[in-house]
Amino acid sequence: SVNRTPEVQESRLKLPVVSEEQRLMEAIHSHDVVVICGSTGSGKTTQIPQFLYEAGYGSPDSPTPGMIGVTQPRRVAAVSMSKRVGEELGDHSDVVAYQIRFEGTVDPKTAIKFMTDGVLLREIAQDITLRKYSAIVIDEAHERSVNTDILVGMLSRVSKLRAELAAEDPKVKPLKLIIMSATLRIEDLTMNPTLFATPPPVLEVEGRQHPVTMHFSRRTHHDYVEEAFRKISRGHKKLPPGDFLVFLTGRNEIIELSKRLKDAFGGSKTAEGLKVRISASEAPIEVEDIEFGDVDDNRGGDDFDDLPSENDEEEEEDEFQIEGDEEIAPLKMRVLPLYSLLPTREQMRVFEPAPEGTRQIILATNVAETSLTIPGIRYVFDCGRSKERQYDRVSGVQSYDIGWISKASANQRSGRAGRTGPGHCYRLYSSAVFERDFPPFTDPELLRMPIEGVVLQLKAMNLQHVVNFPFPTPPDRRALAKAEKLLTYLSALSSTGQVTQVGTTMSVFPLSPRFARILLVGHLHDCLPYTIALVAGLSAAEVYIPENQAIPTLAAKDDAAIRTAADIIAEDRQANMRKMYNEVQKNFCFLDDRADAIKLLQVVGEFAHEPTEEWCESHFVRYKVLKEIQQLRRQITDLLRANVPAFASLKFQDKLDPPLPKQVAALKQMVAAGFIDQVAIRADLTTNPPEQFRKPRRAIDVPYIPLIPVHTSNEVESDAAVYIHPSSPLAHRSTQECPEYIVYSYLQRATQSLDTVKRPKTRMHALTDVT
Ligand code: ADP
Ligand code: MG
Repeated sequence: SVNRTPEVQESRLKLPVVSEEQRLMEAIHSHDVVVICGSTGSGKTTQIPQFLYEAGYGSPDSPTPGMIGVTQPRRVAAVSMSKRVGEELGDHSDVVAYQIRFEGTVDPKTAIKFMTDGVLLREIAQDITLRKYSAIVIDEAHERSVNTDILVGMLSRVSKLRAELAAEDPKVKPLKLIIMSATLRIEDLTMNPTLFATPPPVLEVEGRQHPVTMHFSRRTHHDYVEEAFRKISRGHKKLPPGDFLVFLTGRNEIIELSKRLKDAFGGSKTAEGLKVRISASEAPIEVEDIEFGDVDDNRGGDDFDDLPSENDEEEEEDEFQIEGDEEIAPLKMRVLPLYSLLPTREQMRVFEPAPEGTRQIILATNVAETSLTIPGIRYVFDCGRSKERQYDRVSGVQSYDIGWISKASANQRSGRAGRTGPGHCYRLYSSAVFERDFPPFTDPELLRMPIEGVVLQLKAMNLQHVVNFPFPTPPDRRALAKAEKLLTYLSALSSTGQVTQVGTTMSVFPLSPRFARILLVGHLHDCLPYTIALVAGLSAAEVYIPENQAIPTLAAKDDAAIRTAADIIAEDRQANMRKMYNEVQKNFCFLDDRADAIKLLQVVGEFAHEPTEEWCESHFVRYKVLKEIQQLRRQITDLLRANVPAFASLKFQDKLDPPLPKQVAALKQMVAAGFIDQVAIRADLTTNPPEQFRKPRRAIDVPYIPLIPVHTSNEVESDAAVYIHPSSPLAHRSTQECPEYIVYSYLQRATQSLDTVKRPKTRMHALTDVT
């Protein structure tokens, strides 16, 4: 008997899921596995866990005492949804908790536990029967993240096992598995006999979707942030009240656009929290937050559509005339950013209603596509792109490209305008581009990333033949073979493909297998504390703020001839910043001027001595990433102590003295050993050096050839050479000083903007030279 506040009761009644409670719960009672599909905002995430709770799941004195586990692909959603459900449960709010990587609120009272799917995967590794739980809800299954896919595969087995155990022993209860999706397109999960022998029932919840009028642009501009600015500005002046939800690809775009809108419309003071100050615990690292320097990104050039519009202006005049000639009273503007890096309390502001006479403009990444439902949205502006990890399955070359979203995603995005009433979606691309260039759906993430980590986890759980694992969409056999080969290299697997003792230990660490391996050999020459700091650093997302973001760009002048005093001051400031930037980078290389890995170790070490935001700001590194590295160092130390007998008395050393030269040399060797299959040789030293039209003048133009040839799945690839990344200390050496061999962590092609034909160079993310 839960007592909810009248406001909560009233808003629940409006949710389609709530009117279906009985049907849904009956299905759950009579099936161990059910699938619930309902469009975003229909109440799945907030309500289903409450239904289960009220039906007795998670109550210690009920027949189903185990907890209700709810998984989310994103940390932000795990945290914010647990808070919301806690609020809704009124006098029972203390039964709701969350657990994410470095932080959690779970206690003995917890009945509903929100967590990232990675957390639950680790728990399955510890207890394959998941006896702590009576029900598991897997949310956002349609997103097909790797962890979700693996979880669904695992849980199909766990649920079978629990059913068998329950049949033998009445004290054991079956596990209820509820898979939730915002779209119906999940046949890979439901109609997949290797996963579920009998297809689980698919329960569709009718969302109240109001009609959304689609407005395609006549042309597709390459500078979509600019285009968004123009359209939002015009729309704000012309459109009747109603909030805007704007989809962009990443945090930097959001910050840029937010600033421009505030400059133009004087955003309200309350929306000023933009300066990102976050505790690491609140700051998930996600794909959209990772910003790689755009090396060869020669933007500019033409727009996508062949035919220029005869009269753009005229078209736009009536574009925003959507409701006759009604006079629009001027509205104030409140701009709110929404991306994963933002602290939860900032994110929650999108749920606060805007003051009277104010239009909220929410600038969001993919987070707002399905995970978070924002009330009051009437207009969606969609740039049609997203930044996603791309990965060549065969070569292992990866990149974070900004590319077109799928048609399915575009429809998810536009649907967000029709939750509270009829809405409008302004697509910043033409219908021709949409039809021709948008793929119908996106590939599951498992097909877009290295899978040695997944393979090791599965093997460590005694799954001998990974090909037999019930993957919702099985990875390519070649990719599996490649992963096994690497793991054998790293001594994690025996020659017969069985997990070794080393492999089992490696699987305990939240690190990619290579880094775990480096860790286990890392005690030579008393290096262990450095090795820990190093692999923690290497595992993190971008530590450095790239030069083009650290240093302010000067406003483009229409007339370059007229320079005001302010311009001169700005130019001066920019030159100064650049000097400081280069100085800082150079100082980080003082232990070794050729190894990115040692430079990173230096950064991590210096930060430990001065872990402040000020230090980070003046050293052009990311505070929240370094905080997270710090936590990871501690966690790795704890895991080593608990899992490796030789390190049973290991203590965490926060502040380290600089390593000795012989330790630096040892660390470089260890790193090289973990990446022994990723070595490139300077091209002029090969038996068959490639022809060169011009002698390279800069280190970043010196060609290298990977010793193990990189085969791309793309046949037309002709340039086998790879090059030093400009962010590497090696980029600052002269061409004569370029080392003979370089060990790299991965290969990357620069973000290829959609409008360039020229193929960017493949760059090595170097770790160390080999001497
Ligand atoms: P679904 O999971 O089906 O997409 P949700 O359960 O997330 O739907 O959302 C249901 C409703 O709850 C939405 O209308 C949303 O606006 C509201 N809601 C979710 N979180 C909050 C919050 N923190 N504050 C206020 N309303 C919220
Ligand atoms: Mg949801």
